[in-house]
Formats: sequence, C-alpha cells, structure tokens
Amino acid sequence: MLTSIAGSSVIVTGASKGIGRGIARVFAKNGARVLGVARNPGAAEAAMSELRATGAMASALAADVGNWTDMQRMAEAAVERHGGIDILCANAGIYPAAKLDDLTPECWDEVLSVNLKGTFLAIKACLPALKRKGKGRIVVVSSITGPITGYPGWAHYGASKAGQLGFIRTAAIELAPYSITINAVMPGNIKTEGLDGLGADYLEKMAASIPLKRLGSIEDVAHAALFFASDEAAYITGQTLVIDGGQVLPESLMALE
Ligand code: NAP
Repeated sequence: MLTSIAGSSVIVTGASKGIGRGIARVFAKNGARVLGVARNPGAAEAAMSELRATGAMASALAADVGNWTDMQRMAEAAVERHGGIDILCANAGIYPAAKLDDLTPECWDEVLSVNLKGTFLAIKACLPALKRKGKGRIVVVSSITGPITGYPGWAHYGASKAGQLGFIRTAAIELAPYSITINAVMPGNIKTEGLDGLGADYLEKMAASIPLKRLGSIEDVAHAALFFASDEAAYITGQTLVIDGGQVLPESLMALE
C-alpha cells in the first residue's frame, strides 16, 4: 500500500469532466484537498460538490489554462483555500479533429495553446508554492497519440501531446533541486464525455483494437497519477507511464486474432 496523500493539497485542471474528474475523485477519496479547475464554472462546481458530498474538502475555480492571469489566480486560490500546493495534475486538454487539408492555423493555435502552453502556464504558476513546500509532485496528462501513435485528424493534437513530454524532461532536471518531480501519464482511449463525442462506431472499433478489449476508465488513469503523486514515487522524475490496455503493442491486426 502506498503512503497516504491524505491532507495534501492538489490542483486538478480540467476536473469537471472525464479523466480530470476521475483524478479529482480518486485523490479526494485518498484524503487530498482538491481544487478542481475548468472554464465552465457550473460544471466545475458540480464536480466538486459531488466530492464534498462524500466528506472530501474540494472547491471549484473557473479558469482557462491558456491564460496566464487565470493560472496565477488558480495558484493563489489553492494557497488561500487549501494552505499551499503539494500536487499539480495538469490534465486539461482539447482534441478537436481536423485533417491537414481542413486544419486551420487558428485551430492549430488553439490546441497548442490549451494543451501545451496551458500545461506550461499551470506548472509555472504553481512553482513558487510547490518550492515553498520543499517537495512537490507534478503529473502531466499526455497521450499515446503523438508520442507513440498517430491518427488522422490529430496531427496538431499529437504535436501538443508529444511537446508535453519534451517539456517534462528538461523541467525534471530544473525542478530536481527542489525535490519536485514531474512525470506524465499517457492514456490510450479512455471512456470520457470528450471521447463519447466521437461516436459509438469509433468507440466500438477502438475497443476491438485493444488487447484488453475495452476502453480504459477514468480511474485507470487516476490510479497511475496517484502513484506518481505518492511518496513511493519520490525517485521517479521525467518519466512516462502508458495506460492503454496494451493498445500500442500489436504489430498488425493479425496480432489480435
Ligand atoms: P474531456 O472529457 O473533454 O474533459 C476536458 C476537461 O478539461 C473539462 O473539464 C474541460 O472543462 C477542461 N478544459 C478544456 N479546456 C480547458 C481550458 N482551456 N482551461 C481549463 N480547463 C479546460 O477530456 P478528457 O477526455 O477527459 O481529456 C483530458 C485529458 O486527457 C486531455 O489532456 C487529453 O488530451 C487527455 N487524454 C484523453 C484521452 C481519452 O481517451 N479521453 C486519451 C489520451 C489523453 P471546460 O470545457 O469547462 O473548460
């Protein structure tokens, strides 16, 4: 059993839905104080009130990870409400599909701004408070798409997710003197509201291509994030963990027959 994170202050970006909501739930269940961030204030509050109903300490903040002022506000809120920051889960992300012919410069900028710059801004804003604690944990939610795999329509998304991994490797070296670790989880296809939007046909075909024959759950990802946030993971930094039911393994369709 991992040493408890009870009493730790965690920020989860993109906590109103999907993987972020799962991370917030699992961290709250393990006794952490959760600041859940999303742009839609009603949705963020609904997710956090669900956690409070279970006895957890959780509060919501409406903020855009692509906006520096918002990210500074986010860090201040965690310090004021929860006494500092121990863990940041930089999860917020978007994945609007567009093949190269249709991919506009504006769509490219939006995806890079939320997924890559947003990861950087959230981390940068939290660093002063993390350093004051004398140790800290940053968990970035990347993806298999980009770093390992490709999928038509997601060149911009894949670039943003691979960019996150380039970022953490240097950040890990810079943050090591402060005993702050930074690692990334790389989910495969996880059943979320965002993924549901891609349609039943996509979900069925995707499940068939996964050796474990199911899409991942938000808890599957959250438990990996919890491990990176634990005391036991103190000597792991700049690393990645794939959570995909074996999706990246088959060399061809025949491997699954
Ligand atoms: P989701 O269900 O669409 O939820 C996205 C969350 O992020 C929502 O809470 C959303 O709330 C928030 N968000 C989006 N843009 C934001 C912004 N600019 N500032 C603050 N919050 C923002 O997505 P998901 O599927 O859980 O994906 C979460 C993360 O996992 C993403 O980084 C994604 O790339 C990654 N991932 C997902 C999968 C998958 O299969 N689902 C696989 C690999 C990686 P608001 O819209 O109210 O802001």
